[in-house]
Amino acid sequence: PVRVRFAPSPTGYLHLGGLRTALYNFLYARHLNGKFLLRIEDTDQTRLVPGASERLVEDLLWAGIEIDEGPGFGGQFGPYVQSQRTEIYSKAIEELLDNGTAYRCFCTERRLDLLRKEAVRARQVPRYDNKCRHLTKAEEDTLLDRGTPHCIRFKLTDHEEPLDDLIYGKVHHNVSDNEGDPVVMKSDQFPTYHFANVVDDHLMGITHVLRGVEWQISTTKHLLLYKAFGWQPPKFGHLPLLVNADGTKLSKRQGDVGIQHFREKGYFPLSLLNYVVSAGGGFEHRSSGKQQLLSVPELSERFLIERVNSHPSRLNPELLEDLNRLEIEQRLADGESRLQLVGNVQELVRKAYPQHSNLDLAEGHIVEVLRWSSQRLTLLQDLTSSKLSFLWVKPSSYELKDLSPEQLNTLLDELDAHEKFDKDDLNARLKSFAQKENIKFPLMMKSLRAALSGLKEGPGVAEMMEILGKAVTLERLKEALP
Ligand code: GLU
Repeated sequence: PVRVRFAPSPTGYLHLGGLRTALYNFLYARHLNGKFLLRIEDTDQTRLVPGASERLVEDLLWAGIEIDEGPGFGGQFGPYVQSQRTEIYSKAIEELLDNGTAYRCFCTERRLDLLRKEAVRARQVPRYDNKCRHLTKAEEDTLLDRGTPHCIRFKLTDHEEPLDDLIYGKVHHNVSDNEGDPVVMKSDQFPTYHFANVVDDHLMGITHVLRGVEWQISTTKHLLLYKAFGWQPPKFGHLPLLVNADGTKLSKRQGDVGIQHFREKGYFPLSLLNYVVSAGGGFEHRSSGKQQLLSVPELSERFLIERVNSHPSRLNPELLEDLNRLEIEQRLADGESRLQLVGNVQELVRKAYPQHSNLDLAEGHIVEVLRWSSQRLTLLQDLTSSKLSFLWVKPSSYELKDLSPEQLNTLLDELDAHEKFDKDDLNARLKSFAQKENIKFPLMMKSLRAALSGLKEGPGVAEMMEILGKAVTLERLKEALP
């Protein structure tokens, strides 16, 4: 059975790239009836951000990604947090020391620093010179007896077979020419990423590793580690870089690409999921050219790893807007989601107008508003913009300037007698009323706008009347009477 994992380091919050990696893994698992694991890779204790793990989980769940095994989610292969697995790594490292594929390195920070400086002076890439590989048993024992601090390094060798990447095909990275032997266990007994990652993927029964392409060069090293242990490696697929529409790197400033940012702005999780996979391919060809919003089961059903593109995936932010708009429309069309949507709007409006007690939050009104706005609205939040305050709150009192009370009364009677309350019809009616009463049409409309909304601008007056409906329109106009 397929077992995949998302293995973030809690050094920051979940961003679009991470969400995409998690999602592809999750879809792959669902497509093949496998398991999706979450593993927290927190062995680099110096880079931890407090609370990051909790928030990663929260963001994943918000997005609709379900975790089958992981910290707090059960599973037989735990613990799923690397800092709780140090004993496991210590045992594993003994295996490599015993079979001679790893060795203790006693080089001091000072020596390593000198090596680095020398390399820089000679305009070479700094690399460890593998000095301690060649210590004799006696030398090693003496150093150990003295309690000399040391780390453990892995002996790199040429990896003759190229990596058969599920997405990139055959790739070859020759590591031993360019790098010194990597540290696999630091002197503080914490494993490095490479080591812990391989040990855990093996012990947790991971069958497929789907991760960002920035890890592809490390994979050669990982394959060597599998070989050193005598373990069968999983299959690897690397996901292309996620970039801006113009090909530049996504902003490192988390605020712009962090999931929290999209949550707070009010994007729907499903729109965001469709957005992050839109650029990278990975799905059966869609028949219609029309914009589609696929549900999570639909996405997983159509997911095909071979179809993921290997060139950088360009994100088009306009697509996210379109998708979110589409989602509002779709939710509006379905009874249960419609109720939820109404609830969301009620909450947003209450928050936006905390000082008002008699907000117009009737379900019917909100549905009307949503129908009216669905074409131009990207986010539900947009409904609380100050230009649209008339939707929710009565204007405060004001003076009618260009319309006498008698004229307003007559207008009220006319509107009251009229059943049809749509904007074209209302417009025609208001025009002929102005003519009949000999009022300048623009001035009359200005007064009516003020009476209805207390604002100087916004949608057309007739349009406002239509959205507010007959009862509210008449009520607000009546209140304008002295
Ligand atoms: N901890 C690594 C990260 O933060 C995991 C990379 C991998 O999936 O192997 O992305």
